[in-house]
Amino acid sequence: MTVRLASVGPRPAAVWAEGLVVQMPASVVDRAGWRRAIDADGALRIPPEPAAIGEGDVEALRERRAFTDAAPASARMPIAYHAVPGWARAIVASAIGRWNRRRADRWASFPRWPIDLSADVLHDLSTDASDVESRPAPVVVTHDIDSPEGLTNLVRRFLPLEESLGARSTSYVVPCAWRLDDGLVREVVARGHEVGVHGYDHANRTAFAAPAERARRLDAARGFAERFGATGYRAPSLLRTRALLRDLSARYRYDTSIPTSGGLFPTPNNGCATARPFLVEHIVELPVTLPRDGTLRFFGHRPDEILRMWIDCADLVARARGVVVLLTHCERRFSGHPAMLDAYRRFLEHVAAHADRFAFSTPARVLAGAT
Ligand SMILES: [Zn+2]
Repeated sequence: MTVRLASVGPRPAAVWAEGLVVQMPASVVDRAGWRRAIDADGALRIPPEPAAIGEGDVEALRERRAFTDAAPASARMPIAYHAVPGWARAIVASAIGRWNRRRADRWASFPRWPIDLSADVLHDLSTDASDVESRPAPVVVTHDIDSPEGLTNLVRRFLPLEESLGARSTSYVVPCAWRLDDGLVREVVARGHEVGVHGYDHANRTAFAAPAERARRLDAARGFAERFGATGYRAPSLLRTRALLRDLSARYRYDTSIPTSGGLFPTPNNGCATARPFLVEHIVELPVTLPRDGTLRFFGHRPDEILRMWIDCADLVARARGVVVLLTHCERRFSGHPAMLDAYRRFLEHVAAHADRFAFSTPARVLAGAT
């Protein structure tokens, strides 16, 4: 059920959430005795008494929509869907996006678009701890490198921008789809940036394959991972299943394939509703907290609107003591376009200008518990 948190009572850890609209399972609201504390306008004033909410409730909310258990059409095509030209896929997705843009109550009923921190709110309402630590939120900027063009643009346009503002990015590279320019990837790493693995050939099948086939596809990336020190994985199109994450736990230190709020893609109503790293299927999950460039472009948002959404979401994540994780693509039809690259630069400048609120970080530093 949807409620507006008018007051969190004597719970210092949850003060950041006052005024937010959040969603909670009706069963939890009833068990906590909060239903009578909701007024006619849907405003909830949390009573002072401790509530019977546990880590299991938080975990259940986080995992309620965390997986994309049904394969989308692209994963069932007889040919790799990358054989369809990128511009054609972009036009189809864009038509879907514009059609759906104003129907967010259907495709983002939970988690809500563009961000939903309901699981973090529930966690912080379950504790009366008063030693709330306040430190700058780590900001992890990441790229999915789906093509040679993306890799070239990363090195020519994105890295200099990031370096000029003191940031280092992590790029998840498709290891087995095209002839990889090892020299360019080596340069990325030599300049202090990180690389990770972005699936196998981006055919969107690994998550749904039979166990032996999935193992074969995952193991094919081992050479790439060892050459460039990749310790993390991001699933193509963010298609992820529990079976995939279990298999990843034996091969990587972390996964970053679950969005906080996925919106319409890859399937409606997907995401983990948290901005904090968590353990699932024996692997650390680093959620993609900000709305993705691809989805925002498909919805027809202008670069200045996208910048506004990134800044608003990042500010909320910082208040919530989460980790800001931004996913952009370096191809020209995504963030490699001059106007989008400018929005990205202004986002980085916003982060750099607010050192009290943010600190550029990397997945390795976040996993180590540092900013
Ligand atoms: Zn991709």
